[in-house]
Amino acid sequence: MMPATGTGSGTWAQQCPLCGQRNGCAVAQGLPAAQCWCMTADIDPQALQRLAPAERGQRCICPACGSAQPDPGASPNRGD
Ligand SMILES: [Zn+2]
Repeated sequence: MMPATGTGSGTWAQQCPLCGQRNGCAVAQGLPAAQCWCMTADIDPQALQRLAPAERGQRCICPACGSAQPDPGASPNRGD
């Protein structure tokens, strides 16, 4: 599905593709990416895998869906 215009993507971009709630993405709100919650949160890789391929990299998920869940047996993916 393609947006009809370039001006109507704000609401869409601000919705979590998993649950439909506001994702709180700073970029979608026109704010610097450094202010986005995802910059300081641990995103659950499994949540990202639930995204449709077409959604990946297009929309942010919300904190509720993206929060890393305790997963015994999984090795923590430590970034910097
Ligand atoms: Zn969500």
